[in-house]
Amino acid sequence: MPGFEFFGAEERKEVNDVLETGIMMRYGFDGARKGIWKAKELEAEMCKKLDVQYAQLASSGTAALTTAMAALGLGAGDEIIMPTFTFVASFESVFSVGATPVLVDVDDTLTLDPKAVEAAITPRTKAVMPVHMCGAMADMDALVAICKKHNLILLEDACQSFGASYKGKALGTIGDAGTFSFDFVKTITCAEGGGIVTNNKDVYIKCDGYTDHGHDHIGNDRGLEQHPFIGYNYRISELHAAVGLAQIRKLDKFLEIQRSTKKIFKEALAAIPGVTFRRLPDPAGDSATFLSFFLPEAEQARKAAAAMKAAGLAAFYYYDNNWHYIRQWDHFKQGQVLTPFAPGLKQAMEIYKTKEFPASDAIISRNISTPINLSWSEAEIKERVEKMVNAVKSAL
Ligand SMILES: *Cc1c(COP(=O)(O)O)cnc(C)c1O
Repeated sequence: MPGFEFFGAEERKEVNDVLETGIMMRYGFDGARKGIWKAKELEAEMCKKLDVQYAQLASSGTAALTTAMAALGLGAGDEIIMPTFTFVASFESVFSVGATPVLVDVDDTLTLDPKAVEAAITPRTKAVMPVHMCGAMADMDALVAICKKHNLILLEDACQSFGASYKGKALGTIGDAGTFSFDFVKTITCAEGGGIVTNNKDVYIKCDGYTDHGHDHIGNDRGLEQHPFIGYNYRISELHAAVGLAQIRKLDKFLEIQRSTKKIFKEALAAIPGVTFRRLPDPAGDSATFLSFFLPEAEQARKAAAAMKAAGLAAFYYYDNNWHYIRQWDHFKQGQVLTPFAPGLKQAMEIYKTKEFPASDAIISRNISTPINLSWSEAEIKERVEKMVNAVKSAL
């Protein structure tokens, strides 16, 4: 799964290029940097790899999401529809622009249920934010159709799915904008970093300024730049971008390994009666960072995950996990913030103190997701598959 497993000479070379000049800032210092522009180079590589017109790096995936929301004009009073199953960063970004998160159910794709999205639309709805969880896609045709019909912005949180696609298009490039995370545990890593992609020039220019104090980046003299709007510092450093540049060149290899390893795990599980799999709207586009499957009953899934862990395997039982699923997000549900929400948002958040999500519970409580690593040998894969099958069988 994570790019950090394949960290080596290529990353060191790119980082050393930066250390040689000592210019760790991504902008300016044109003479001293001797033609080394790692962040710009990585942005160009992202555009090429994902077949998208514009890419803007940021200091994290969370910063990328916040930036995308600001650039898309989302703010106070705007409702953003998002799933109950994601990472806490998705709603953090909504709060950071002052907008209102509207959480709706996921279905057996482990991503937004299009019917739940449509049912949640109000006159205040401004955007829909699918989260392409665990390396694979939401049902994008359905979500694109809903957004067109209701004139809504479509922002893809593809932080966990760099390199995955839907019907031939890279995830993140289908909506008005898409975001990625390159934190330490993602498909490719910069150590910390993120990025926004879009085919909309205006959105891109806003992302470019927003991540760097609103500077317009016009001309060669940093001191003479204008500020068309207020921005923040969500810049990536040249050192981080250098790591990402080495990593993106390995992406195809990562995907190939993940897909072939996942196939072996999936075939072994498929032979067990009662095991079903996450529905993939386009199986060919899966980046295969995880294998996600269901058992018939919640207790069986909880037990199987525990048995997998006891056998030394990684198994996420998200229902009991407080990073990814609403059931344990007490700080979110109670609206625990350090500085008070604006009055409208505070009122809108009241519903989460009591709101239940039985449809999501019925999915997530039966799900187990197991990460597919890059560095396993054939013998290790065989051993792990055997342990997984035994653990799952023991719970049924
Ligand atoms: C990792 C992640 C993020 C945030 O990325 P960071 O780089 O860690 O800030 C956002 N959304 C999802 C779904 C993620 O998994």
